[in-house]
Amino acid sequence: LDDEKQPLCECNTCYSGPDCSQFIPNCAADADEGDPLFLEPFWIQHAANSAVLVAGWHRMSYSYNDKTVISKVLEKHIRKLHSLVGNAVTEDRFIIFGTGSTQVISAAVHALSPDNASSPARVVASIPYYSLYREQTDYFESMHFKFEGDASPWINTTNTSSTNLIEFVTSPNNPDGQLNKAVLHGPYVKAIHDLAYYWPHFTPIPAPADEDLMTFTLSKLTGHAGTRFGWAVIKKKSVYERMTMHMELNTMGVSRDSQLRALKLLKVILEGKGREIFEFGYKTMKARWEILNQTLSLSNRFSLQKIPPQYCTFFQEFRESSPAYAWLKCEREEEKDCYAVLKAANIIGRRGYMFSAEDRYVRLSMIKSRDDFDALIERLKELVSEEESVV
Ligand code: PMP
Repeated sequence: LDDEKQPLCECNTCYSGPDCSQFIPNCAADADEGDPLFLEPFWIQHAANSAVLVAGWHRMSYSYNDKTVISKVLEKHIRKLHSLVGNAVTEDRFIIFGTGSTQVISAAVHALSPDNASSPARVVASIPYYSLYREQTDYFESMHFKFEGDASPWINTTNTSSTNLIEFVTSPNNPDGQLNKAVLHGPYVKAIHDLAYYWPHFTPIPAPADEDLMTFTLSKLTGHAGTRFGWAVIKKKSVYERMTMHMELNTMGVSRDSQLRALKLLKVILEGKGREIFEFGYKTMKARWEILNQTLSLSNRFSLQKIPPQYCTFFQEFRESSPAYAWLKCEREEEKDCYAVLKAANIIGRRGYMFSAEDRYVRLSMIKSRDDFDALIERLKELVSEEESVV
């Protein structure tokens, strides 16, 4: 198998080779991607009970025994997990699976677009927003939907205009971690609530979300981004049916092997009633956020977003924020290209422009491996100490 040639663990950016032991000198601290390897140590601790061994003859068919393409056992576990965490209402709701929430989101845009309107539905989001919404909607643009960008110009139009609108609401938001709410309301407005990060690793859970269409992903829950498994919780049968048709025509459902792996991982989470993984995830993210804040506390040149603490119904206490990403701002008037400022210091972030925001902002990923995070902090410390010596 090709996979046998791969290293056992993912190498962080400063190491290479089959066992990740070869140090790459002067390597950049790469805080660009949202690869959720912060959870790798948890799964190393649970290596045996999370392992999946599949015999060659197993599950070869297109469909399950009930002729569907969705594992009913997995669906039951997903409902159980939401009820345990208290982050989403799933009673009397439909659930659909996708190849990552990336595919679920695409199916949702298709399903919410009217197929008989004279003009396409406008797809919008509040700035800063996750770039996939724009990239994917532009790529698949059809006579039914079109990406329009910023949601705010539409706020005062929804009572008077009959333009169909689809608003993406990301909560907590990628990139800035805020618990966003929909800004558009009205008879012609529909929303896709992307709740990829609405788990206790990244945010207090104030209440179960009960929106018409909510999307989730295994990527940010267990960290298994490579399994490519996401799902949606849907209120309306007609929307569920349109999304189902999209999935069936598109990929004929999610890989049965991925569904099996997802099930095994959820079983491990549920065994410990979720306490173990979410304590681990929260502690890790919270510690990283504190270290980053401390590192930048003496800086006048860089600032970070503020997220207020809230009561978390899962942990049953007030919890501080523990966001997946830092939304860093370059404060000096002349430093309008914050990405370039960081790049010169050997730090790779993601430009504000990618989130349709000013380039004075850069997103730094906090969810990569420990080594990646440590490298980021080392480089930032050097940058802040330069600032002190100039003062
Ligand atoms: N939504 C948000 C807000 C994300 O940040 C991501 C991944 N970075 C996704 C959806 C897509 O995740 P996936 O396709 O891995 O499920």
